[in-house]
Amino acid sequence: MVLTELGGQISSALQKMSNVTVIDQKALQECINEINRALLQADVSFKLVQTLATNIKKTVNPDDLAAGHNKRKIMQQAVFNELCGLLDPGKPSYTPKKGKQCVVMFVGLQGSGKTTTCTKYAQYYRKKGFKPSLVCADTFRAGAFDQLKQNATKANIPFFGSYTETDPVAIAQTGVENFKKENSDLIIVDTSGRHKQEASLFEEMRQVSEVTKPDLIIFVMDSSIGQAAFDQAQAFKQSVPVGAVIITKMDGHAKGGGALSAVAATKSPVIFLGTGEHMDEFELFDVKPFVSRLLG
Ligand code: GDP
Repeated sequence: MVLTELGGQISSALQKMSNVTVIDQKALQECINEINRALLQADVSFKLVQTLATNIKKTVNPDDLAAGHNKRKIMQQAVFNELCGLLDPGKPSYTPKKGKQCVVMFVGLQGSGKTTTCTKYAQYYRKKGFKPSLVCADTFRAGAFDQLKQNATKANIPFFGSYTETDPVAIAQTGVENFKKENSDLIIVDTSGRHKQEASLFEEMRQVSEVTKPDLIIFVMDSSIGQAAFDQAQAFKQSVPVGAVIITKMDGHAKGGGALSAVAATKSPVIFLGTGEHMDEFELFDVKPFVSRLLG
């Protein structure tokens, strides 16, 4: 289901309730059930949907709805606030600071869009006056270094990697050390992924994190992974201290639900959205417009 369809379903649930003359607990519950169904279909996890429903019931009083002229608006505001709340982990993520050498490590499954997103991120900060650099510590996927090299060359960003070294931990360490000497103030480390969550991947992430000592670890997630989002994000968070999330492929048949799950699982905010394959298809994440779009 695309975001606008979700918005449509929620709007229609609110409209139905708005047309009911008597708003009692039953009418409220029916409206909440319809909203829940729409959210579940959009891959918001079952647990989050339950939390949202409980909170709406706590904050919305049917008596206010009965007396108020604009029931639809009251409910819409409650849903809006709850969704915003679910996307807000309560603390901002670390942001790179000019003049301080910071290391940012990217993690995520293979195909999530990590390599593409690393260059987009580098470019975003270069426009802000940083001196970014890219380290390719993905030795698992054939062609990963070539891809990073190609993106980095096009974007004119210094890069480091190896065709012969097979140890990702060694590459990550050398790459970060080299760029520190070259005074890069934003060293971005791209890591290996796997098609699924595997113990060896998480051990590798732990080791890369140990040698590079990142100031920030960003979890990259494909928006189309559906209900798997929570477990996937949680598995990464359990192996390394993820501090931010980037959701990619929001230009496709993207569902909004994964973002909510990723925030809940990592207790970290979404910071950017990937909206296309091109390097400039990258947006700063902003909670309110995202939820507005979700609600249609
Ligand atoms: P990695 O295996 O995690 O490093 O993933 P890649 O960066 O190689 O991306 C996998 C595929 O997804 C590539 O074909 C990318 O061009 C594509 N991709 C990455 N981000 C986006 C995005 O935001 N939108 C779209 N449509 N495609 C993307």
